[in-house]
Amino acid sequence: MGRKNSFVAVKPSYNGQALRSQTTVPAQPLGKITHYTYRIEFQQRGSPHAHCVILVENAPKVSDPNEDNTEFIDTYITCNIRSEKDEPDLHKLVTTVQRHHHTATCKKKSTNCRFNYAKLPSPHTLIATPLESDDLAFKAATIDTVSSIFTNIYDTLEDNKISSLDELLQKTEISLEQYVYAL
Ligand SMILES: [Zn+2]
Repeated sequence: MGRKNSFVAVKPSYNGQALRSQTTVPAQPLGKITHYTYRIEFQQRGSPHAHCVILVENAPKVSDPNEDNTEFIDTYITCNIRSEKDEPDLHKLVTTVQRHHHTATCKKKSTNCRFNYAKLPSPHTLIATPLESDDLAFKAATIDTVSSIFTNIYDTLEDNKISSLDELLQKTEISLEQYVYAL
């Protein structure tokens, strides 16, 4: 869902018309699109949604550490839920079609949700990258550290009613820096 009510085809028509229109509208709500590809899929024989790759002119390169990619991403994408009181239509649209609802597909591999929803909140946009080291011992130690952070967090969430990220970090005694690293 884009900012200022611009949108990224949250529920495109079956032939992807809504997505294609983003490439031609003069306002260019996603920037100047140079190439795109998409695939429409259907969940539970309904709810069409698009998996797409969109190339935007002058977009920063993810691989360039000097580029501020998160600022570019934040210009077009947000994942907050708008106020039901102030923006009832957008609130309804997002909570209906942009929020994960468990289905039988989630439990295909004998887990509560094989897509790991609900996801943990992030204080800001993150771009996940592989660990830079090839050292297997370092990788194993990192996985152990991150696993223990997540175990602490999920146990705390299960046993307590937590209403904010600050409260979660306080309760778990995990620093914001450790938490963001684990994400
Ligand atoms: Zn699920």
